[in-house]
Amino acid sequence: IDALPAIDETITPSLENPVRLNFNENALGMSPNAKQAAISAVSKANRYAKHEMPLLSQSIATSHGLSTQYVLLTAGSSEGIRSSIMAFAKENTQFVISDLTYGDGEYFAKIAKLSVKKVPSLKDWTIDIDGLKKQVEKYNGNSIVYLVNPNNPTSTITDTKKMFAWIRSKPKNTMFIIDEAYAEFVNEPTYQSVDSFIEQGYENVILLKTFSKIHAMAGLRVGYVLAHPKNITHIAQYVAGEKLNYCGVCAALASMEDKAYLNYSKKVNDTSRQIMQKTLKELGFDYLSSQTNFIFHKIPTDLTKYQQLLKDNYILVGRAFPPAERWCRISLGTPGEMLYTTKILTQLREQNLI
Ligand code: PLP
Repeated sequence: IDALPAIDETITPSLENPVRLNFNENALGMSPNAKQAAISAVSKANRYAKHEMPLLSQSIATSHGLSTQYVLLTAGSSEGIRSSIMAFAKENTQFVISDLTYGDGEYFAKIAKLSVKKVPSLKDWTIDIDGLKKQVEKYNGNSIVYLVNPNNPTSTITDTKKMFAWIRSKPKNTMFIIDEAYAEFVNEPTYQSVDSFIEQGYENVILLKTFSKIHAMAGLRVGYVLAHPKNITHIAQYVAGEKLNYCGVCAALASMEDKAYLNYSKKVNDTSRQIMQKTLKELGFDYLSSQTNFIFHKIPTDLTKYQQLLKDNYILVGRAFPPAERWCRISLGTPGEMLYTTKILTQLREQNLI
């Protein structure tokens, strides 16, 4: 693979070109094959991707052992979140989430005029399945449970046994929307995708996926929904005509086939995570076990000061995530970017600033 950053790369960030560790992007860049496919697609982009979209659906379906009736292509998983919420936002529907999770679910649920019920996280900031379950059980109407696994911003995974038993029990009037944007980065062996439920014909689960993370294609806007064909047909009414970005579709097709790049993308993230976790340990910072391309860590100052100290050194880190006070989400960049970041953190400690 050409043009991949070496572990010992030295970087010189600046005001104009900071280290961007604030949006959980993949700093590695796209697969070289995907990049080439996107570039070649520009010259054909006066057309709709009518021929390529079915090929991408087929490639995705095959990768999950399903047929294309189970797949709906979306403009990133954001469109998957919005369309699946809208599709199931009937009257008297509550939207049940953990109090610390990715914000798009709540954002779109409010637009759909659903009542949002937030269930406090457990002490270790993992999602409280029993708590979500209680919230559903005590409600006399429809529920949509939006669960991000592994979760953002915590980077933790959810108790598979409990979650799977709950889905398997098919609680009445309840739809599970499971967002697995970061699944490919997980190392924890107990983690499982809910795609097996979809394979088994469950109608109460919708799985959302994206090309923005492991495939490093955030700017090209490709994602998909995986669900029972009945649900796919329903959700399809709420996407913008299934017309995706031509370059994005071609890049996604190439990226799906570039297994060497996907393995490399995971390995580089593992290396960056190790670099960052080693320094967090040395500095005595608590952090949650990272199963994604970011780390949620406890900080000794308030977040605004921490952000500013890092910004002064050309490093951008995540925003505030209430109710987690004095916690910071730092995305993992390339190993070189993490070496730079850890050097700065160590210096700030030596100066007694953190
Ligand atoms: N879901 C989760 C959990 C995310 O963290 C993000 C982005 O950070 C998204 C969905 C949206 O990503 P995209 O629309 O680029 O697929």
